[in-house]
Amino acid sequence: MSTTETAIASAEAHSAHNYHPLPVVVASAEGAWMTDVEGRRYLDMLAGYSALNFGHGNRRLIDAAKAQLERVTLTSRAFYHDRFAEFCTELAALCGMETVLPMNTGAEAVETAVKTARKWGYRVKGVPDGMAKIIVASDNFHGRTTTIVSFSTDPEARADFGPYTPGFEIVPYGDLTAMREAMTENTVAVLIEPIQGEAGVLVPPAGYLPGVRELTRERNVLFIADEIQSGLGRTGKTFALDHEGVVPDMYVLGKALGGGVVPVSAVVSSADVLGVFRPGEHGSTFGGNPLACAVALEVIAMLRTGEYQQRAAELGDHLHRELGLLTGGGAVEAVRGRGLWAGVDIAPALGTGREISEKLMEQGVLVKDTHGSTIRIAPPLVISKEDLDWGLDRLRTVLSAR
Ligand SMILES: *Cc1c(COP(=O)(O)O)cnc(C)c1O
Repeated sequence: MSTTETAIASAEAHSAHNYHPLPVVVASAEGAWMTDVEGRRYLDMLAGYSALNFGHGNRRLIDAAKAQLERVTLTSRAFYHDRFAEFCTELAALCGMETVLPMNTGAEAVETAVKTARKWGYRVKGVPDGMAKIIVASDNFHGRTTTIVSFSTDPEARADFGPYTPGFEIVPYGDLTAMREAMTENTVAVLIEPIQGEAGVLVPPAGYLPGVRELTRERNVLFIADEIQSGLGRTGKTFALDHEGVVPDMYVLGKALGGGVVPVSAVVSSADVLGVFRPGEHGSTFGGNPLACAVALEVIAMLRTGEYQQRAAELGDHLHRELGLLTGGGAVEAVRGRGLWAGVDIAPALGTGREISEKLMEQGVLVKDTHGSTIRIAPPLVISKEDLDWGLDRLRTVLSAR
């Protein structure tokens, strides 16, 4: 057996099979490139589902992490530490908001948003105890906890994990009328992704997101934007909602906030909304730890310059132009997305998304399939135009070799 085969067999023998990875075993990485245990190089066109927006081994982020590793890494929230205030202040400023509640993973931040909305509903809006409802969209992806999978419409994510948490109303994504009709006086929040990543990089119809903003404001309902994957530069702006000029009541952030180094997530909102929490009502041992704050502060500083957003916008225009040319030829049925983020529907005759992903891997390009026939393209924002073109060439090769 090859080194790769041995490593995979051993991993499969000793880990739960809750993922189906491509058969590549990465040993090191830099920028947009990864190297496997046999020395083969691959262009990373997934970027850890946007957790690696700034690339592998980004110097600024690694240096920030190293410096903090030598000082203090964890205090727990039982004490203050000297990076905490700066992190909260800077993240709130980046979001144009006032208050930050830091967590670690995306799912925890979504859970935090759900708890915030419910408590806000009871304490501020005056919803009767136990009656709070949150409206979510079909085909959503917000994480994997028991409460979050309770409002998933994906049978794979949900089946066998009940009993399910009540209090959620599912409406079709992109359908403002359905959302309006689902709203009652007990609705406390709307929780949606401005672009649905897992669903295949679905961009909602123009006017939908401003419509959600208007409707939620009218009905005294919190607009919670899950920008865990769409935010922090990916789409060519800091937030995907920026493209529509929409400001939500609450951002849920994660993935890229940790710079691909450590898990960092947060809920960012107004002092009124996050002010509903009292000591002891919510928390996390690692939430807002010094190492997380140090790395995230560097991420925020990098985003403040706007250069990564601009890169994503420019390279994204190029990516979508090139992908658009493929749609005429029959191999590609549709391309969606924004910035350096694309969902590409492959004609079923050419193979499943998984098969295309495996062929791309053989060509030295790593992507991930979703929903049968779609592949997701989301390279690190630091990718060079030459490398992006090289990756697109490999895609063309795979799609033309029937
Ligand atoms: C990845 C993701 C999550 C969950 O984040 P984890 O860190 O994996 O828990 C939630 N929402 C969206 C939109 C995501 O892309």
